[in-house]
Amino acid sequence: MSSKALFLDRDGVVNVEIGYLHRIEDVTFVPGIFSLCRTAMRLGYRLVIVTNQAGIARGFYDEAAFETLMAWMQARLREEGVELEAVYYCPFHPEHGIGEYRREHEDRKPGTGMLRRAINELGVSLADSVMVGDRCSDMAAANSAGLKQAFLVSGTEKSRCGGHYIEVNGLEEVERWLLKQDVSV
Ligand SMILES: [Mg+2]
Repeated sequence: MSSKALFLDRDGVVNVEIGYLHRIEDVTFVPGIFSLCRTAMRLGYRLVIVTNQAGIARGFYDEAAFETLMAWMQARLREEGVELEAVYYCPFHPEHGIGEYRREHEDRKPGTGMLRRAINELGVSLADSVMVGDRCSDMAAANSAGLKQAFLVSGTEKSRCGGHYIEVNGLEEVERWLLKQDVSV
C-alpha cells in the first residue's frame, strides 16, 4: 500500500535557520512545527526530513555530529508526540566540498534523490506528498519530483522562486491547508 509523506526541510522549517547548525544548544524549534507534524501524522502523512548539509561538505562538522544532533532532535520531537519516519541528508557540495564530499549528487536539492528514496524505502507516493521548505531549491525539488504541493516559508529567500508553490508566513498555514484537503477528499 502506498502512502503519502510530508517532506520537511530541516533548517528554517523544523529548526530556526542559524547557518550550519550542528550543536544541540543552538536548536530553536520553529513555532508551529510540533502541531503541524502531529496534524500531518493524524491525517496519514509520514514525516520525512530532507536536508542539504553543506556544512559536512565544507568540513564545519562531520556526519557523526549531524547524526548525534538528529538523534537528539528525534527524541525531542517524540516527547511532543511527533514520530519521524526518516531523516535523509545530503553531505555533498559540488564546489565547496572537501575531498570526497566535493561532488555533484542527485540527493542535493534541487535534485530529487532524497524524495525518490522515500518511494522505495517507505512506500511513499510522491504525487500524494507535500513539501515544506524555505528555499527555492526545496520548491524546485518538489516540483521536479511531482509532489502534490510545495510550501515556501517566507523570510529566507529574498526574491520569488520559479515553479509552483504556496508561500506562507507560518507553519500554521500549512497545517490549515492539510486539514482542508482532508475534508475535501
Ligand atoms: Mg532550509
